[in-house]
Amino acid sequence: MGADGRVKRAGGLAALPAPLCPLCGQPNDCAPARCGDLDTPCWCRDVRIAPEALARVPPALRNRACLCRRCAGAEDPAAPSG
Ligand SMILES: [Zn+2]
Repeated sequence: MGADGRVKRAGGLAALPAPLCPLCGQPNDCAPARCGDLDTPCWCRDVRIAPEALARVPPALRNRACLCRRCAGAEDPAAPSG
């Protein structure tokens, strides 16, 4: 009985090494994204990401690449100068 096909674990959500915000390209300061361990505590767990911000994330990166604080809406937007 040599039919022992190795089953790849699929469907497991794994953090991509994506230290950059997919929206603006700035460092997202996301700890799990840097170390690849989703159990790592991060600021992004304490904030509510704006739905409109998530909607702008490319589907391929959604739930994988973390937004930066600014794009996530965690910080008050700077007053427009000019
Ligand atoms: Zn950003």
